[in-house]
Amino acid sequence: MSATYNIAIDGPAGAGKSTIARGLADRLGFIYVDTGAMYRAMGLYFHRQGIRMEDEDAVAGACGEIEISLRYRDGLQRVILNGEDVSELIRTEEVGRLASACSVYASVRQKLLSLQQDLAASANVIMDGRDIGTCVLPGAQTKIYLTASVEVRAGRRFRELMAKGKSSDLEEIKKEIRERDDRDMHREIAPLKQAEDAVLVDSSDLSAEQVMERIIAIAMERGLAQAPGVTCEG
Ligand code: C5P
Repeated sequence: MSATYNIAIDGPAGAGKSTIARGLADRLGFIYVDTGAMYRAMGLYFHRQGIRMEDEDAVAGACGEIEISLRYRDGLQRVILNGEDVSELIRTEEVGRLASACSVYASVRQKLLSLQQDLAASANVIMDGRDIGTCVLPGAQTKIYLTASVEVRAGRRFRELMAKGKSSDLEEIKKEIRERDDRDMHREIAPLKQAEDAVLVDSSDLSAEQVMERIIAIAMERGLAQAPGVTCEG
C-alpha cells in the first residue's frame, strides 16, 4: 500500500470540483491541489510574454523559463509563478481560456506532471483537474468523475459572476462551457475522460454537502479510514 492516500477528482469546467475538493480537504485533513490553477499560471505567463497560443514552438521554448510552486496559507492554496503570487490574477475567464489553449501541448503537461505527482507522493491529497485519475495519479485509491449538465454549470458560473458584481450573458457562458468541454475532451494528449475505475457523480441535482457525503462514502469503501493521518470518522 502506498504511504499516502490520494483522491482524484476529474470533470468538466463548472462541475463544482474545486468547491467539493476544498471542502473535502478541510474535512479530511488532506491537502487540496488545484491543478487547473497551475495551467492557468502557465497560460498567464505565455500571455504576458506575448506568446501566441497557436505557436507551439514558442510555448515549448518558454516552458523552461517558468517556475510554478504551490504554497498554503490558512489552508488555502496560493499559486506562485516565478516568485509572484498570482492566485487572484488567474481567476478570470480569459485566463481560463488561455489555460485550456496551452494545456493541449505535451511540453506544458510534462512540466506540471512531476510537480503534481511529487505533491501526491508526499502528502494525502485531493487533487482536481481533467487527467488526474487517468494520467497523473493512476494509482489513486479513490477516483471521482464529477459532472453536471451544461445548463446547471452555466447557471452556477453566472451566479458566481453576479455575486462578484460582474454582469454576464448566460447564453455566452453556455457557449464557452461547450467550447471548453469540447477542447478538453478531444485533445490528443490526456483528454478529459472518466477513468475506468472512477465513480461517476452527477452534481446537477445534489447540494455540495450531498456530493461530499457521497465521495466520503465511496472513499470509505476504498480504505480511507485506514489511511495514515485521516481525521474523518465517516
Ligand atoms: O479547472 P480550471 O477551469 O481551472 O482549468 C483550466 C483549464 O486547464 C481547463 O479547461 C483545462 O484545459 C486545463 N486543465 C488540464 N488538466 C488539468 C487541469 C486543468 O488540462 N489537470
